[in-house]
Amino acid sequence: MIRVLDIIEDTMVDGPGFRTSIYCAGCRHKCLGCHNPQSWDFKGGREMTTEEIMKIIVADPYANVTFTGGDPMYQCDGFAELARAIHRQTNKDIWCYTGFSFESLITRAQRELLELLDVLVDGPYIEKLRDPDLLFRGSSNQRLIDVQKSLYSGQTVLWNPDVTITI
Ligand code: SF4
Repeated sequence: MIRVLDIIEDTMVDGPGFRTSIYCAGCRHKCLGCHNPQSWDFKGGREMTTEEIMKIIVADPYANVTFTGGDPMYQCDGFAELARAIHRQTNKDIWCYTGFSFESLITRAQRELLELLDVLVDGPYIEKLRDPDLLFRGSSNQRLIDVQKSLYSGQTVLWNPDVTITI
């Protein structure tokens, strides 16, 4: 079960190609200049089951999937269940946005969700670091992290469509 604010189909701004973006409710980061402050309320939107969300995801055979919000890391268990269903039923990749840094995600529930992701866009939005030319993110502190390579190597590895960068 996930508390969902909105589901946007065929978006091209939350990762490469066409994507189905799941916008969840609830965020405590309260970034100055947040693009979506109405998403902060944990009681916003409505609860949806994994099955309800999967019907929308599988209806588009060409769109990959993005978890965003709000912050999906406040609903790790629900998103992990959804990610498992996506992997079982499709070959879609999964991107996830969070206001936490990758290195700070250390609880069991957070690690279980991480293990199911392809790319994590991490860190809070910082208004003074805003750069409209950045790919798929708002401020330059945020990183596109190749989650599987990072977990495997024990280092933070940045995602790049052509080159892998280890930091
Ligand atoms: S983490 Fe994202 S949703 Fe939460 S306050 Fe920051 S920009 Fe807004």
